[in-house]
Amino acid sequence: MQELLADFHVHTAQSDGQVPLLEVIDIFGKGGVKVINISDHLYDTITEHGKRVHEMKQCIQDWELYCAQVEKARRYAEQRYGMLVIRGAEITRADSGDGTAGFHIVAVDLKEPVNPNLSPQEIVKAIQAQGGLAISAHPYDKPDAGPRGNVFYLWENLEAFRDMVDLWEIGNGRVLYEKVAQEGLRFVADSDFHIHIDSHDAQCLSQFFSWKTKVAAKRNKDAVKEALLKQKVSLVLVNKTPG
Ligand code: ZN
Ligand code: ZN
Ligand code: ZN
Repeated sequence: MQELLADFHVHTAQSDGQVPLLEVIDIFGKGGVKVINISDHLYDTITEHGKRVHEMKQCIQDWELYCAQVEKARRYAEQRYGMLVIRGAEITRADSGDGTAGFHIVAVDLKEPVNPNLSPQEIVKAIQAQGGLAISAHPYDKPDAGPRGNVFYLWENLEAFRDMVDLWEIGNGRVLYEKVAQEGLRFVADSDFHIHIDSHDAQCLSQFFSWKTKVAAKRNKDAVKEALLKQKVSLVLVNKTPG
């Protein structure tokens, strides 16, 4: 069985990423990635930070337009790189500031948008009800969480979410979440790509170079999702472009 280099957590200029979608496809395609889940932010409208993100248009504004653009990218990636593009989103709730932790849940394979104002339990169920997978993104203690505040609700309630959530990020960017391994959780590793700085020192500067997942599966959506659930996966650090 072939092993596909995969990244399930990737942002583009359709939310708060700096790189337009087709350029993202080029970066990942040239980097040897064979499966990519585009996961632009769907943001809450109930927290102060969420409202600001909407004002600055740093989240998906128009779902139909998003779908059309990802579909265009899917065809381009297939033709040019033999890369599978999956449409996802990061369902994002900032810290409310009243002691209620927020959460970032990356959905893999989303047909319809999921409302980030729902409870995390409802969000996970809504993702799974449409055949998607729910990933707990950067599950705890991300050092640069910034104005989003505490977004670790799932981890703070691990016993409730341990089996409900499909996957937990063991790697995000270059950060490693070793407690995910110690807890025996089903894991995945992603870049959380937002920016790309073209440079001779790209190895250090591009967020493309990150923890990623190798998946033992045929290159189609259902096979990849099944392999993730069965954990036919390994953790890899991509440090430079192959070749
Ligand atoms: Zn972001
Ligand atoms: Zn996030
Ligand atoms: Zn993200």
